[in-house]
Amino acid sequence: MNLVELTQYTSNEERAEEYLREQGILKTYHDCPYCHGARINRVRRAKFKCYTCNREWGVRRGSILEGLRVPFTKFLMAIKLFEIDTSVREAAKQLGLAYNTVYNLHSLTRNAIFAADGSTTSFSGEIEVDESYFGGRRKGKRGRGAAGKVPVFGILERGGKVTVEVVSDVQSETLLELAIKKVKRGSLIYTDKFRSYNGLVSYGFKHRRIDHGKKFANGKVYINGIEGFWSFAKERLLKYHGVDADKFPLYLKELEYRYNHRDRDLFDDLIQLLVGYNRVAYTE
Ligand SMILES: [Zn+2]
Repeated sequence: MNLVELTQYTSNEERAEEYLREQGILKTYHDCPYCHGARINRVRRAKFKCYTCNREWGVRRGSILEGLRVPFTKFLMAIKLFEIDTSVREAAKQLGLAYNTVYNLHSLTRNAIFAADGSTTSFSGEIEVDESYFGGRRKGKRGRGAAGKVPVFGILERGGKVTVEVVSDVQSETLLELAIKKVKRGSLIYTDKFRSYNGLVSYGFKHRRIDHGKKFANGKVYINGIEGFWSFAKERLLKYHGVDADKFPLYLKELEYRYNHRDRDLFDDLIQLLVGYNRVAYTE
């Protein structure tokens, strides 16, 4: 849904609420959540009432919106601003909301992405595998094992998706275990000369290596795809001016998600993710 289409739902609270209810982000009760009496009705602006037990509940009950005070219209606009990658500061200004409120909304969306984790997908065909280092203050020692940096392992299917994951180290065991878990046997894996990738063949993969020292790409033997993802990720992370180490995996999954959904309608996808997150967070 583009910005113009979205405006039909953000003109007033009723319309926005209706949309959120239709999508399943707001939970619709067909009977009373306390006594299961069927005689329920809307009372006042934001309440429902049961005429059997006389109890009332809010329109946001049972949804991720329950703890949020932000109007439904602004909630939808915040998702749009997240989609187009607006900073928290700028989104707060555009929405007339406090920085922390928007920060919490963006975190909610990011958590929904993380919880849905698309990386369980199996990869096959022509695969590029590589590791890279994120964070750290200065460039420091080049290459593998650079101090203070977080190693990330990535798998990319040519013409398909990417999956990335923070790893404790770049030992052969660690990296091969992930490759074995996620890539179908018999697939052709391209790597560079790093010795941790020795042994792929003995696990039933075909393996070709590229030597960066000699030539960047040799026919089909290249890992430009995964390296393209590393540049994409690093450039975007720069915008955040450094992410807390404990939040880094969340941001990394967001980038994986954005990369894998680059040709899709991100707004609609995010709404569906939030519906799924709703289901996880609220199982009444
Ligand atoms: Zn009741």
